[in-house]
Amino acid sequence: MEGKLVSANIPTQVGKFTMHAFDSGRPELPHLALVAENTKLDGVVDVRIHSECLTGDVFGSLRCDCGEQLQAAMKHVEANGGVIIYLRQEGRGIGLVNKLKAYNLQDEGMDTAEANIALGFHADERDFTPAIDILHFFQIKKVRILTNNPEKFEALQTSGIEVVERIALTTPKHAENQFYLETKRKVFRHDV
Ligand SMILES: [Zn+2]
Repeated sequence: MEGKLVSANIPTQVGKFTMHAFDSGRPELPHLALVAENTKLDGVVDVRIHSECLTGDVFGSLRCDCGEQLQAAMKHVEANGGVIIYLRQEGRGIGLVNKLKAYNLQDEGMDTAEANIALGFHADERDFTPAIDILHFFQIKKVRILTNNPEKFEALQTSGIEVVERIALTTPKHAENQFYLETKRKVFRHDV
């Protein structure tokens, strides 16, 4: 990739992190790696690969569980050491405007996958290659991956990085995200 552009200390309510920004090809949207203090990059590293979800991550939307997963992941890596890789692929890679359009289609009865297809996209347009490049950048060889998504697990298994364990992130279920989580489980094979 895709070199590192800059690193800076980011103290948060959860703890102290270093944020590293990587060139994504779009200067305004660098991919990010949030590395917790006391992370030993040469051991088994706890890693969360998180795809940007502005509505969930920033505004706490309950249409999905992204914001809660990000918070849970930050707390986990702060306690155990680890890295959160934040990929700028909003709305399963279709962008914010299309995601909002998809929400309208969902309000008319479609599920996440059907709505994305109706807008002319694949059900899931995400690409986890930049995350693998970032792991290689840090020379991380072994990971415990924090995910409910088997695809991320499979993407890493073919990367030469050893996945020692998969740790499921559990987040609360709400009436607002019940249908979404059900779709994730059925269509995208997530353990939610
Ligand atoms: Zn989300």
